Amino acid sequence: MADPLSNSAHHSRDPADDGDFRRPEVTEQVQRHYWLPTPDPDARAFVRHAFRGRRWESQSSDTTVCGKQVAMAKPNEMDWCTAPTCLECNGILVGEQRGSPGES
Ligand SMILES: [Zn+2]
Repeated sequence: MADPLSNSAHHSRDPADDGDFRRPEVTEQVQRHYWLPTPDPDARAFVRHAFRGRRWESQSSDTTVCGKQVAMAKPNEMDWCTAPTCLECNGILVGEQRGSPGES
């Protein structure tokens, strides 16, 4: 004379709990990026571009998120204050964070 209602309720609760535990940490898989003011060859002024990676590793040059090869140097505070943010880099990163990679 088991109660079928309570039995099924108990049975259906386990998979839900299990699903919560196994939910992967999705944010860890988002590509890291950092911003650095660099001398832009086109603008002939400092522009704050985004780069792939966790942080600048003192390399002398790298490719920006928007696809430019730029020279890198340790920026001073003036550079951080005066360099405008690259709108192309910003737009690409915003698009990626919306979860539509590959669409342009
Ligand atoms: Zn850029």
